[in-house]
Amino acid sequence: MINSKLPNVGTTIFTRMSQLAMETGALNLSQGFPDFDGPQALCDAVGRHIAAGHNQYSPMTGLPALREQVAAKIQRCYGRAVSADSEITITPGATQAIFCAIQTLIRPGDEVIVFDPCYDSYEPAVELAGGRCVHVPLGQPDFSIDWQRLSDALSPKTRLIILNSPHNPSGALISRTELDHLATLIRDRDIYLVSDEVYEHLVFDGAQHVSVVSHEELYQRAFVVSSFGKTYHVTGWKTGYVVAPAALSAELRKVHQYVSFCGVTPLQWALADFMVEHPEHVEQLPAFYQAKRDLFCDLLADSRFSFTRAAGTFFQLADYSAIRDDLDDVAMSEWLTREHGVATIPVSVFYQQAPKDLRLVRFCFAKREETLRQAAEKLCAI
Ligand code: PMP
Ligand code: GLN
Repeated sequence: MINSKLPNVGTTIFTRMSQLAMETGALNLSQGFPDFDGPQALCDAVGRHIAAGHNQYSPMTGLPALREQVAAKIQRCYGRAVSADSEITITPGATQAIFCAIQTLIRPGDEVIVFDPCYDSYEPAVELAGGRCVHVPLGQPDFSIDWQRLSDALSPKTRLIILNSPHNPSGALISRTELDHLATLIRDRDIYLVSDEVYEHLVFDGAQHVSVVSHEELYQRAFVVSSFGKTYHVTGWKTGYVVAPAALSAELRKVHQYVSFCGVTPLQWALADFMVEHPEHVEQLPAFYQAKRDLFCDLLADSRFSFTRAAGTFFQLADYSAIRDDLDDVAMSEWLTREHGVATIPVSVFYQQAPKDLRLVRFCFAKREETLRQAAEKLCAI
């Protein structure tokens, strides 16, 4: 028998719930992906670039035209001039970017702070690097950073803090004041940041995403990660990027060049074209997704679920304690899928130790209006 390096890892909840949705024919509001296509012009551009022979390796750091578009967007959205050459690296997905950043930083014995509930890919990446995650629960009910707990969790072994804003699964946003507070807390320590900002453009009600890229002090020690998959409705393209100061990017690239070497070439060409031709796409995203959030929440107002509208991401949490307080959230997600035809994600799986009375499930509202209406009808009937 092989001696597993990840003995506690099984098949992810996202795969399991999507599979159960398929088996049962349930509407799949579990795993986070749109049930609609990316922009036609973007999809068409891929075919055009394949036909034009853009099918061999791209430069290791990413197609220059795409890195330049990312730099232009960062300047436009966050007011920072980053070098397309030395500070931006295109990766096959944000997951790979996060993995490479962790491998770049973490040595055996190092500690990494993650805030629970947290995305599932962080901890296995830390463990494979020989590090250990220290889980700091976010405050309730607003999923904000609990500064006392964070401060208590820091040790001389702390090498990295992983931030995620907008936050999966809660949709919570980190504010500039919180980033300032964090900067003060880690100022004299040898601690780096990975800032997972894959939902950077999915922010609602007029709020602004506060990127670590825009924080002068924190950026100097940060790897900031994003995903074209979320921004352009093409999660299956697995194309993302990481922005970091030149010295950090140089180290990350040493890892990236031996994990994948480069991203997928024709996809990078298509994304670069589309970003040139449609800079308005990212500006329209908040309204696009806010309309979906509001439709879904307005319809759910007639249900027995209770919720506060998500501030960001394409996920909506809902408390089901008025419906089946006897079920934990894993059982509830299965019951909703099997008995009521709507697949969801239980929130407890994002915790090392979930609060005992947690009665929250996560719905993905990156769906066509028709899907959201059908799902809401089923949920309101419970
Ligand atoms: N981080 C978070 C918080 C996510 O929700 C996702 C979505 N799967 C990722 C990272 C990974 O993005 P990608 O699909 O580009 O690897
Ligand atoms: N990020 C997606 C989610 O939270 C899942 C991606 C995956 O399945 N790995 O639903």
